[in-house]
Parts: sequence; C-alpha cells; structure tokens
Amino acid sequence: MSKPNDREAGSRPSSEAGPERPRRTGSSELIIRGGRVLDETGERAADVRVVDGVIAEVGAGLSASAGATVLDAEGCVVTPGLVDLQVHFREPGREDAETLESGSRAAALGGCTAVVCMPNTEPPLDDAAVVQSVIERARTIGLCAVRPAGCITKGRHGEELAPLGELYDLGVRVFTDDGDCVADASVMRHAFEYATALPGAVLAQHAEDPALVAGGHMHEGAWSSRLGIPGRPAEAESSIVARDLALAKRTGGRYHVLHLSCAQSAALVRAAKAQGVRVTAECTPQHLVLTDEACAGFDPAFKMNPPLREQADIDALRAALVDGTIDAIATDHAPHTAETKDVPFEEAPPGMLGVETALAIVLTTLVEPGVLTLAQAIGALSWQPARVVGLDADGHGGPIASGGAANLCVIDPALRWVVDGTRLASRSRNTPWEGWKLTGKVRHTIYNGTPTVRDGEATR
Ligand SMILES: [Zn+2]
Repeated sequence: MSKPNDREAGSRPSSEAGPERPRRTGSSELIIRGGRVLDETGERAADVRVVDGVIAEVGAGLSASAGATVLDAEGCVVTPGLVDLQVHFREPGREDAETLESGSRAAALGGCTAVVCMPNTEPPLDDAAVVQSVIERARTIGLCAVRPAGCITKGRHGEELAPLGELYDLGVRVFTDDGDCVADASVMRHAFEYATALPGAVLAQHAEDPALVAGGHMHEGAWSSRLGIPGRPAEAESSIVARDLALAKRTGGRYHVLHLSCAQSAALVRAAKAQGVRVTAECTPQHLVLTDEACAGFDPAFKMNPPLREQADIDALRAALVDGTIDAIATDHAPHTAETKDVPFEEAPPGMLGVETALAIVLTTLVEPGVLTLAQAIGALSWQPARVVGLDADGHGGPIASGGAANLCVIDPALRWVVDGTRLASRSRNTPWEGWKLTGKVRHTIYNGTPTVRDGEATR
C-alpha cells in the first residue's frame, strides 16, 4: 500500500550532471547558490545541487548545467524544510476558514515542507475513508507533505476508541482528540495500550481538564480577575499532563504534549524524561512570546486554548526549549472566519493563525535577542519535530547531504517586513501579530525538489 508521499527511487547516487538518463517531464536540476547551509551537523558555506528531487551535491562553487533552475541564496541560511506538528486546515467541513490548499500554501510560505493536520474537522478524522480522502487531496495539491492525525476516540467524544489500527495502516502516526482533551483516564489508558502495538505511533494530548476549564475564556490569574473574564487555571493542563505521564510510564506508550503552556507542565515533562518515560512536547510561538495581559483589550485574536499565560510561564517554556525538555515549536495554526471570530471575547472561538509567521516570530523574538541560537531554533522547527512523528524517515528535517530528499528552506535572516493579515495566504485573518515588525523571512521553500516558494512568493 502506498505510503503517503512515496518518493521515486530514493537515493540513487547521482553522478554529476551525468550524460543522460532520459529526462522526465519538467526540469530536474536545481541549484541553491551562495548560502550558508545549516542542519543538525553544523553550519558551512555551500551551494546545494538537487537532481530529480534528491540532493546530489553540497559544496562550494557548484556550476549549473544548462537548463538548471538557479535559486539565489546570497546572505541566506539554507536549512531543512520546517515541520509543523500542529495545524488546523479545516478541511473537510470548514473550507470557508481554510482548505488543505490554502493551508498548504501558507505553510510553504512559512518554510514548511511537512505538517501534521489535526483531526477536529467536520466530520472528524476518526474513519479510514475520511483520512484517505484527506491524504489523497493533500497529495494532489502537493505544496507540502500533509500528514493527517487521527482521532483517539470516535467522534472525539472521549468514550470509544477510534479504529487506531486502520488509521495507522493508512500512515497515521499521531493520534489526538485535539480541540478536546481525552478526559477519561481509562480511555486514555486503553489508547496507550493499543498504540504500543503500533510502532512509531504517538498519542498527542490537548491537555486541559474540561471540568477545570468549563466556562473559562482566558488564563486564570491577576488579569482574568481584573478583566472580569472567567479563567482557565494552569492546573487544568498540568494535572492532565501528570496523569498521562503516569499512564505512559505504566503502559510504555509514547506521549506528546500539544501546545504545552505552563511552567508546571514543563517541570513534569522534564522529570518524566529523566526517568525514561517516552514523552515529547511542543510549545507555540504565541505561548513563548505573549502573556495574558494581551487579553486586556478584549480582542478575540488573543483568545486561545490553552490560554496565554504569565511571564513566569514564558520564562519556563524558554528554558525548557533550551534544555531539550520541549522538543518542538508548533503553531496550532487555527483559522477562523471573521464572522465567527470577530465577536465579543467570551463568544469567540479559540485559536489564531500561525504557520506563515512562526519562523519570523521565533527569529525576531527569540534568536535576535539571544534566547535561542539559530541552530536551536531551526532544530525546534525542523529536525526535532520531524523525529517526533517519523517524518525524518520520509526525508524531512535533514541532514542536507548527498542522497537526501530535497526538502529545504532558504531563509533571509535580515529581511524586515510587517505582518499584514490581508496579505497572508490563509483564508482567514485572525492573526495576533497584525502590524508586528519582524526580521527574517522565507525566500525559497523546496518540497521534493520543486520550489513551492520562490523569492518570497508561492509558485502556485
Ligand atoms: Zn489543542
């Protein structure tokens, strides 16, 4: 059965611009020239030659054969394509907010060559036929690898397990009821027990105890009191994380914390990792940068679940990224139409756009001030998330070396730009970064050897 995204003939050693092997349709040679290559193995000045979707050569001063596509990377950093572990592309069901195509285009513009899309669609991705249709549709679009996550429970109701094995056979490796937490501990335990029989599968939790957050619309703290908005306490997250870590330890299952947002959760994951529990975690740019004070204007753009927390949480999340407790930065890209989102704060749905701005936010707010090195940032945006879900085995996350799949991102770290929601590729406009002045932007994205973004513009 076809695995999603089969690539042709993998690692054929390409003998320099070899004297001919019959050309397939379209041009098959591409050179990325003049950049600094940065991957997990280090950083060096080098050009990259790509032939038939595969990296053929990495080195200084490569010459281009006639007809080759040359991408200018002068002043740029050439990295493995970014991998976003959490996006909501809203298809099927809410194509007015986003589609697999508009979301894939936004992801490519954000430097991604692979994303994991969440299953809280309408209908939800709890069924093999629905998952298969998403896989096929995304493959047809071909702007990046889109890996659907499957539901843990049927209908995301938190009661009966979804057919995890059937979904797994289609290539699904991430199971989650995201949008909702699997609240019932025995259901979660059974899911862990089932998933341990599926190599590479991971249970990803939206960790918020529904009983503790019921009726809440922002982080519970000084600002929620001052604003008179009912709160969602951090303990709603950390209590679920603690419970799930205990279940992962007991069952030997793999656990991933989606959008980890508070200091207590980070401490729990750190301790569990030290004990050998099979856990990974991600956090979002917004939780690394914005506090609950952002809700003071009652602007629904800043409403999200889990909610924006306090400065002490931001500090803890940043430290957890640096020490490896948090593996990945993922966006939780959550488009909403203006009709649904531009309503009073307490009526608005949670979530914000992210996939097109994440890299620039990270470069501007974390790398430029020296919180993270560039290599740490790209690691958290590329090879570390790739490894969490096995996308490394499918040619994502590098390293950038001969024989590897050409899934690459070329970043101009000095380009200054201003976020304008009307110019984002998403069908929706709910960005909290509107008007932010950012430094650093994707110049080119190459997916399976083909530019999906060239000179900052989507190629289709
Ligand atoms: Zn979530």
